[in-house]
Amino acid sequence: MNDLLQVDDLACHFSVRRDHGFPARRVPLKAVDGVSFSLAAGRTLALVGESGCGKSTTAKAVLGLTHKTGGDVLFKGAPLPKAGTREWRRQRQDMQLVFQDPLAALDRRLPIGRQIEEPLHIHGVDDKAQRRETVTRIMTAIGLKPHQAASFPHELSGGQRQRAVLARALVLEPSLLVLDEPISALDVSIQAQVINLLVELQERLGVAYLFISHDLKVVRQISHEVAVMYLGRIVEHGDPETIFTAPAHPYTRALVSAIPTVRTTKRERIILSGDPPNPIDTPPGCPFHTRCAQAFERCRIERPELASTGDGRTVACHLAHAPDVRAVA
Ligand code: SF4
Ligand code: MG
Repeated sequence: MNDLLQVDDLACHFSVRRDHGFPARRVPLKAVDGVSFSLAAGRTLALVGESGCGKSTTAKAVLGLTHKTGGDVLFKGAPLPKAGTREWRRQRQDMQLVFQDPLAALDRRLPIGRQIEEPLHIHGVDDKAQRRETVTRIMTAIGLKPHQAASFPHELSGGQRQRAVLARALVLEPSLLVLDEPISALDVSIQAQVINLLVELQERLGVAYLFISHDLKVVRQISHEVAVMYLGRIVEHGDPETIFTAPAHPYTRALVSAIPTVRTTKRERIILSGDPPNPIDTPPGCPFHTRCAQAFERCRIERPELASTGDGRTVACHLAHAPDVRAVA
């Protein structure tokens, strides 16, 4: 198998203090609970779902930035070195992270050229001229003018700042970029530019993206595969065309129905009742049953496994595997 990244049965369980009730006690919070996927070089996998579903925790665990309590993360076939070690830092050159807010990611006291150059310095490129040349090249590739290297973050627009953050992430030529809501802090008019840029950079550099977003319209444009998460688990995984045109899981159906569309044909919007349950109190059976309009008796008792539906995707819903199961149940 030549996957760049392989995640097997990943679990991130935390112990949290329950605020209400006396005496206060610690309870387990299963932020990520049995997540598996793989990502090939030069491809994009999108993780989608409401906030708190475990997308960002999964991303952090992939990078070794949060402690995993179970499962395996293999990058280029090898387990991640222990966080904080020299081996881990070396590996991190090859897997970079881009956050939502470019202003928070940049140091406002330093010109952006210096910030883009910094990773080269840290990772041992001692020749100053060579560093400067690399910075100019990456800035040009990303659509910034070389003279903007002298600009401070507040002198740039939001879109330019996110370009600077991307330049810094790409300057070490990583194989994997983890993008956590990379455009949600940007104006809508700038979002499309950054998405086009990401697509173009991927074609040019062959970098793989783990793309985290709640914006399904963007996900559809950019991804080769989509994994929909709910309460720390993947509930549907497949190619975007199949998922967006014929979502199989009732939760995916609701998310897809909420995508704004310019088509005149009216599509029924499925409104989910309530918020996702508290992850420290996940319901028994199918975790989605408290909000699912199709739920039936078995859903309250038995958790559906993520299994193939025979059309290239996997779905965790009793109905997706045996549509007539309700009649039998
Ligand atoms: Fe809904 Fe049941 Fe399917 Fe869960 S298993 S998504 S509750 S129909
Ligand atoms: Mg998040």
